[in-house]
Amino acid sequence: MRSQHTTEEETHQTPGIVIPLELDGLRMLKQEMQADGKLRVEVIATKKGEQCPHCGTMCVKQHDVRPRRKHDVPLRGHVVELVLHKRRFWCLRCRKAFTESDRACGRRRRTTVRLREEIGKQASTRPIAHVASHYQVGPRFVQACLEGVASIQLAKRGLSLEEGATLPTPRCLGIDEFARRKGHRYDTIVCDLDGRHVLEVSAGRKHEDVTGVLERLADCEAVEVVSMDMSRTFREAVQLCLPRARIVADHFHVIQHVGKAVKKVIGRWAKSAQGKQALDGQFHLFLRNQEDLSAEEEQSRASLAQAFAEIAAAWQLKEDLRTWYATASAQTAAAQLDAWIAHVKQAGPAELRKALSAFRDWRSEILAFFDFLPTRLINGFVEGKNNRTKAILRQAYGYRNRRHLRMRILLEEIA
Ligand SMILES: [Zn+2]
Repeated sequence: MRSQHTTEEETHQTPGIVIPLELDGLRMLKQEMQADGKLRVEVIATKKGEQCPHCGTMCVKQHDVRPRRKHDVPLRGHVVELVLHKRRFWCLRCRKAFTESDRACGRRRRTTVRLREEIGKQASTRPIAHVASHYQVGPRFVQACLEGVASIQLAKRGLSLEEGATLPTPRCLGIDEFARRKGHRYDTIVCDLDGRHVLEVSAGRKHEDVTGVLERLADCEAVEVVSMDMSRTFREAVQLCLPRARIVADHFHVIQHVGKAVKKVIGRWAKSAQGKQALDGQFHLFLRNQEDLSAEEEQSRASLAQAFAEIAAAWQLKEDLRTWYATASAQTAAAQLDAWIAHVKQAGPAELRKALSAFRDWRSEILAFFDFLPTRLINGFVEGKNNRTKAILRQAYGYRNRRHLRMRILLEEIA
């Protein structure tokens, strides 16, 4: 006669069918494919007994066993239904039965911890609805798994899902805005530039919205430098809340500011009889960085530059500014900037001359960039973040709520 034990061993060893379960503390009793393609795996805990939760006595006397259906991670594309044979032990001292604990799922959970983790991880990079349909679970459950994973991840950086919690103070802070919907509903994004991650995404970009976030920093005195776009609201909020911090105008935004003026020059010529056809669809040749153009594109750009001297001049001034950023030092920056400004005044089209006002208003903040070399404060980090934000928005159709978007952005890893 075979013992129960032998039967289990044989099932376990059936070649080609059984897939190892690798659930800590559980052993497999049976595994079978269902007609609907689900894999049903029956398991039981390996431990011999358990401490009574009431009196702490170690109990080994089994009272009864009840099957509990759980949902586990898919195996080789099959949905796994776990049937956990949950035992109840009898405490001889309390004269009471109690159910054994279950580390794989947790108390009163119908899913394994590892399934919840896997779903949460998937949902941090994929749309909720896709993940829900892949795992055949509800979107609310996916959302809960995502928040579970997110809380753990964020806690490692001293952050939490609770909006309003105290924020860890970075030495270098980046502040920027982004449009939650194209062209309107702006939010403010605050980053730790040393740690290369987002600290907070908060609603609005008005003075009180920004001061509201900055006041949550654990130690406002500890911020040494704040990099930002040329927004007066941001500057005033920082001067108020972080009085010791130096403000640096983010070089990406400064170049972008001049780039917009270049675009206006091209736009003006594109309306002329001469430019209508020649410039149609060619703006990018002058707006992209020169080194990012292909040889062919550079050739088109050069021939257009020959035909439109004003565009060529505007473009050259923008490229000169980029060169200044790449090559100047704290010692040479001010004099070289003055030379560039003089050049714009003398040779620049009206649109560029108009753009110079920002260089008056923000002169010290623009030059401060060179005091923090070679840290190279931003390198388009915040801006890169914004592009990523746009991608997240595109992905998160139907998830217009801010809490969800905020969590997704906070979870983003920064290269
Ligand atoms: Zn007891």
